[in-house]
Amino acid sequence: MGLDVPEMKELLHPTLPLHYGDQIGEGEVGGPRHLSSVLPAVSAAIGHPVSTPMHPSPRKLQEALSLPDARSAVVVLVDGLGFWNLATRAGHVPYLRSLLNEPLNQRPLTTCLPSTTVAAMGVFGTGTCPGLTGMTGYTQLNPENGLISQMIQFRNAIDPLDLQRQPTVFEQLAAQDVRVTSCGLPRFRDSALTRAALRGSDYRSADHSRQRIMDTARAAREPGLTYLYIRDVDKVGHHRGWDTPEWIAALEGADSLLALLHRSLPKGTLVLIVADHGMVAADPHQRIDIAREPVLKDGVDLVGGEPRAVMLYARKGTDPGAIAERWRNRLGDLAQVMTKEKAIGAGLFGQVEDRVRPMIGDLLVLAHDRMTLVDSRIQIDAATRLPGVHGSSTILETRIPCLIDLV
Ligand SMILES: [Zn+2]
Repeated sequence: MGLDVPEMKELLHPTLPLHYGDQIGEGEVGGPRHLSSVLPAVSAAIGHPVSTPMHPSPRKLQEALSLPDARSAVVVLVDGLGFWNLATRAGHVPYLRSLLNEPLNQRPLTTCLPSTTVAAMGVFGTGTCPGLTGMTGYTQLNPENGLISQMIQFRNAIDPLDLQRQPTVFEQLAAQDVRVTSCGLPRFRDSALTRAALRGSDYRSADHSRQRIMDTARAAREPGLTYLYIRDVDKVGHHRGWDTPEWIAALEGADSLLALLHRSLPKGTLVLIVADHGMVAADPHQRIDIAREPVLKDGVDLVGGEPRAVMLYARKGTDPGAIAERWRNRLGDLAQVMTKEKAIGAGLFGQVEDRVRPMIGDLLVLAHDRMTLVDSRIQIDAATRLPGVHGSSTILETRIPCLIDLV
């Protein structure tokens, strides 16, 4: 059964808010079908349910995701592979297309806000939310030193173990004597992001992608959980745009690796393919440079977040409401401007611990359509002109695949 891809106009529609938790109300988005549900649901599927503050009932999540029981499960996270990005290009990828043809696999999950790797990895790894992990975006304020920290490398940041205090699902499985194996690049073994969000697994590293597939298949012979991360789709998407032949080539590369994985796994293995977020093609004509607009700079001390989900930290003594009004007047329909209180009240960051509150900007600006908000004072020129971006609330950025393959 094929899948109808909506018009781009519809895919660029903003969707708010995205709910956390095991329950979901009529017309709400997220709940049990959310990135935060994936590892708790899989833990239930392999017979060792791990509950989290946002998800007390892993069995319900397993049901919501329609995961069969299995002794051994492989979870693959393909960075940047939005559900609709994939569906648009399914003609190029025979293995992924065969999965997408299953009605069960035609129901996307929702990622967190901001729809970006740092926040999403925290949410995925712990089964919780950015308000608990303290991982709220590509960059954020470090209240301990007053600096903007870059959270991929944790530059200027609080130590990963001190910042991210939620136990990871990997840790909780390992504590039950369940085998947990990660297969990835050598340089991510002890990276700050791995230590913060994905600690607790036995990490097998290999330089070559095919070797990582073989390592994954070998690990999966034993009961337990195996995690595999695939990176290139996001990288190429950022630097070339997701609507390009180069992105299709990266997607084809991922497809052939995943097909190889499928062929190499023992019968009965459960494979679940997900992503951290999707991607939008930036429109260079909709690029706004905060540095060049006095009305946007006024009263703003620091700028964090990312081009599709900017966080503004107000100068001491400046009313964030006044900044919000100036931004709304300038941006109109181009973006949604929210105060921190409004964003937290709407549940955007899930439950928010007191220690995390100061890390979140006084204002959150979510870009609409294909626009970007950059700051040439703090970003290098190339970073302000990336052809592919994500972070905001559009369907294209926030819907992620949940492809089940019982080998
Ligand atoms: Zn990315």
